[in-house]
Amino acid sequence: MTKTLPLSFEFFPPKTAEGAAKLRATRQQLYAHGPEFCSVTFGAGGSTQQGTFDAVKEILAEGVEAASHFSCVGATRATVREQLAQLQAMGVKRLVALRGDLPSGYGIGGEFQYASDLVAFIRAETGDSFHIEVAAYPEIHPQAKSAESDLQAFATKVKAGANSAITQYFFNTDAYFRFVDDAYKLGVDVPVVPGIMPITSSTQLMRFSDACGAEIPRWIRLRLQGFGDDVESIKAFGLDIITDLCDQLRMAGVPGIHFYTMNQAGATSEIIRRLDLV
Ligand code: FAD
Repeated sequence: MTKTLPLSFEFFPPKTAEGAAKLRATRQQLYAHGPEFCSVTFGAGGSTQQGTFDAVKEILAEGVEAASHFSCVGATRATVREQLAQLQAMGVKRLVALRGDLPSGYGIGGEFQYASDLVAFIRAETGDSFHIEVAAYPEIHPQAKSAESDLQAFATKVKAGANSAITQYFFNTDAYFRFVDDAYKLGVDVPVVPGIMPITSSTQLMRFSDACGAEIPRWIRLRLQGFGDDVESIKAFGLDIITDLCDQLRMAGVPGIHFYTMNQAGATSEIIRRLDLV
């Protein structure tokens, strides 16, 4: 069983100076695990652009490879072109290219319909300057017309020029393995890295999962509900569950693990320590 596995950590851009200071400390703790890269999310509609780019700049200045998430919903070719130029000037070499979801209240518009349009545009404009990641949904994107069309859409965006993919988080490894096999049959042979969400809060997990279509198995949901407000038990249970999940994935030979850190180092570090990963 391998003890080395490429790791990556995802952060969101902090809204306050205090949040930025806390994130700096979180990053230093997580750098001890030697990540391949760290990524920073990007609010759809460009709502967090400054915060995203500032956090990306800091990561690069700390000597770590940084990936900027980049969403295209509501964007025009001109705005995307300008943002790509800024990222290139910052020395960014890796993007997570997404459609994104417009917050309610934003009008529909923009010149990109799907992430595949964005990937094709980035390749046409910047050649091979960026390593492009795209999102994958082993449990099917919530707005997909069907499981087949979602898989086909995934294959289309990879063929538009993506180098690798990161999945939405999941707790069911069969969904992931089936997805990777089926995508391979459609000619997708890029690495599909599982995205892992450490469990630290029951209410937060339920809220996120309902919104993004990640299924929490009944037994996990009921166990979490049973802990009520007992945060320590939730955390202990979450560490056991997620360490087991990562262990199964590692044993099956996944190409890496991407942690949705929620800007916290504790749970992610403990899982990596328990897995004895280098
Ligand atoms: P797409 O790949 O464009 O798919 C969106 C929907 O359209 C799917 O239902 C798909 O089946 C369908 N579709 C695609 N192409 C076609 C086609 N040709 N014909 C018909 N249907 C099609 N959101 C943010 O706002 N900021 C972030 O930083 C962010 N980071 C993320 C990181 C990861 C790893 C993941 C998994 C998700 C992230 N998200 C982020 C959430 C993401 O923006 C949403 O899930 C969004 O709804 C879909 O984005 P996408 O890039 O997967 O879209």
